[in-house]
Amino acid sequence: MSIAARKFLIGLILLLAAGAGIGWIYGHTDWGLLAAALLALIWQVRHLLSFERALRTGNFDDFRFGEGIWEQIFSRFRFERERAVRRKQNYRTLLREIRKSTNAMPDGAVILDADYEIVVCNRAAKDLAGIKRKKDRGQRIDNILRDPELSKLLRSGDHTTTIEIMSPVRDGNWLNCRVVPYGAEQKLLLLRDVTERMRLAKMRRDFVANASHELRSPLTVISGYLDALAGDDDIPETWQKPVVQMRGQAARMRQILGELLELSRLESAGPLQSDEPFDVLALLEASREALAGHANAAGITINAESAARLRGNIAEIETVIVNLLSNAIRHTPSNGEITVAWRSGEDGADLIVADTGEGIDPEYIPRLTERFFRVDRGRSRDDGGIGLGLAIVKHVLARHDAELIVTSEAGAGSEFRCHFPPERVVVTPTIPLS
Ligand code: ADP
Repeated sequence: MSIAARKFLIGLILLLAAGAGIGWIYGHTDWGLLAAALLALIWQVRHLLSFERALRTGNFDDFRFGEGIWEQIFSRFRFERERAVRRKQNYRTLLREIRKSTNAMPDGAVILDADYEIVVCNRAAKDLAGIKRKKDRGQRIDNILRDPELSKLLRSGDHTTTIEIMSPVRDGNWLNCRVVPYGAEQKLLLLRDVTERMRLAKMRRDFVANASHELRSPLTVISGYLDALAGDDDIPETWQKPVVQMRGQAARMRQILGELLELSRLESAGPLQSDEPFDVLALLEASREALAGHANAAGITINAESAARLRGNIAEIETVIVNLLSNAIRHTPSNGEITVAWRSGEDGADLIVADTGEGIDPEYIPRLTERFFRVDRGRSRDDGGIGLGLAIVKHVLARHDAELIVTSEAGAGSEFRCHFPPERVVVTPTIPLS
C-alpha cells in the first residue's frame, strides 16, 4: 500500500473517530459518526465530480490542486495521459515518414487483404497503374487491373512467379507484377515499370528474327549451287569432299535458321490460336512414324495409359514430341529403350518421354532450356544438336499452360515430363457396352 493510501485510510479512521467522539460528548455517538461519514463522502464526491468534468472537457489543470489520495490519482492520470498523447504523436510522425518514403519509391506497392481487396497503396501505384488510394479502397485488384495473366497469378497463389502486364493508364508501358504474402493473410502487390527491359527484349527478338529471315534467301541460293555441284560428275575429285561438307554445313545452317525463326515466332506469338481438343495417342503414333528413319527409332514404345484428348495447337505439340523423341534417340544407344507415355488424372495430364540412355548430370538440368545450351558441345555438334530444341519445347508448353519437368542422372537415363493442367485435358466418358 502506498503512503498516500495509508494516509487516506488513517485520515478516514481519525475523522470517523473524531465524529464519534464529538457525538459521544453530546450524547449522540451515532449522529457524530454519521456526520463524519457524510463529510468524508462529500469530500470524495467533490473530487469525483471534478475528475468527471476534467474527463469531459479534457482540461486536467485543476487536478494539480487535488488533495490527499486524489492528488496522487490526478497526477498519475495526468502523467499517463500525457504519455499517451506523446506516443500518439510519435506514431503519427512515424506513419507520416513511412508514407513519405513509400510515396518516394519508384515501384508501386499495393496492400491487399485476404480477398485481394485493396487496403492501401502508394503514389507510384497510382502513377503506374491508376490505382486511387481512397476511391479504390475495398475494390478487388483484378477489377482495377483487368488482365487474365494477373487473375491467373492471384488464383494460383504462387508467390515466386512474376508476370508482365500492360499498364492500364500509360500507353505502351509494361508492368512487372509480383505478389508477396505477409502478416495474417495479407498480400503486397509490387508493380515495377519494365518498359525499357521489354523494349530491349523485343529489339533482340526482332533482330534475331530479321537476321534469320534475311540469311535464309542467300543460303537457299548457296544450297542450290551446292546441290547442283554435288550432282555434277565433272567436278574435280579434290572438290568432291569439300562440296559434300559444304552441303552438310549449309543444311545445318538451314536447320539453325529454321529453329531460330520458330523460337522467334513462339516468343512474339499472341495467345494460342487453336484450342481444339485433339487425339494425343494418334499424334504420338504419327510422330513415331515421322522419326522412323532414325537409327534406333524402332525401339520407341508407346504406353497409352489414357484416352484423354488435349486442348491446344496440334502442330506445336507435335514439335514438342518430335524434339523430345529425337533427343532421346540421339542420346540413347541402340540397345537402350525409349518409352512415351500419355496419362491423365485429377491434376491434369502428363506426356512423358523416358529413355535408358546416357542421362544428364543434375547440375545441368536447370540450364537445359537455355538457348544454345548443350551438355557436351563438341559431341552435340557432331550428332546434329544445336541447343534450341528444348528452348522451343519450353515456349510451346508455356503457351499451353504446361511445364517441363526433367529428371535425370548421368548414366541412368532421362525422363522429360510435360505436365498439362486439368483445363487443357478433355476426358471422354467411356460408353458402357450394354
Ligand atoms: P540439341 O539440339 O543439342 O539436342 P536441346 O535443346 O534439344 O538441344 O537439348 C539440350 C541439351 O540437353 C542437349 O545438347 C543434350 O546435352 C541434353 N539432352 C537433351 N535431351 C537429352 C536426353 N534425352 N538424354 C541426354 N541428354 C539430353
